[in-house]
Amino acid sequence: MLNIKSCQDFVNWILSNRLLINNHNVIVINTKTSLIASAFGINSTIWPIITKGIILINLDDLYQRQFTEKEIQFILAHETAHIYKNHSLNTLMWNIIERLLINLEYNSPLIVETFKGFLELLSPNNLPHNAEDLKNNEYEADLIALNYVTGDLRNAISCLQKLSNNDPNSPSHTWELFNLNLPAMTLKQRIDVLKERYYSFRTL
Ligand SMILES: [Zn+2]
Repeated sequence: MLNIKSCQDFVNWILSNRLLINNHNVIVINTKTSLIASAFGINSTIWPIITKGIILINLDDLYQRQFTEKEIQFILAHETAHIYKNHSLNTLMWNIIERLLINLEYNSPLIVETFKGFLELLSPNNLPHNAEDLKNNEYEADLIALNYVTGDLRNAISCLQKLSNNDPNSPSHTWELFNLNLPAMTLKQRIDVLKERYYSFRTL
């Protein structure tokens, strides 16, 4: 059974031996909050900034929901991939843009929300750019976790299935519009995309 120390060792191993980052300081913290796992950090190859970040993981909750060691390793690899790919910078950028727009002189969040609504209608997947980025970041982190770290599709899928609480159509991540929480993608979509990209990667 993984404890917080072995989670930390595993993340260090991923960064050094799988992602080939020489200098890194990513801290794994056992959280008791409602979230399952999340990551924030920056990966820079430019000296003197080293790769730094924080990964939060709710081990109690995961063990209560019968996640296996290998499934938890997939989650840790996924969170590490978010830091590796600088996804938090992308999320931060969208948050800043949205806050800035909301605080413009006309001070009307309604305009921002209406604009997001239009972007949603215009996009092929009915998602505005920020939700599209959110979705693609998740797909990318899943694929890196699988291809670079665990190499175990079966465990990746069972992990995502457990996250869905056996409802494959439950949302994996949501975005907000007019105080509504809309799904950026479902867990089923995440599993389908992971399988598809994994198999095309294998046949390269
Ligand atoms: Zn993620």
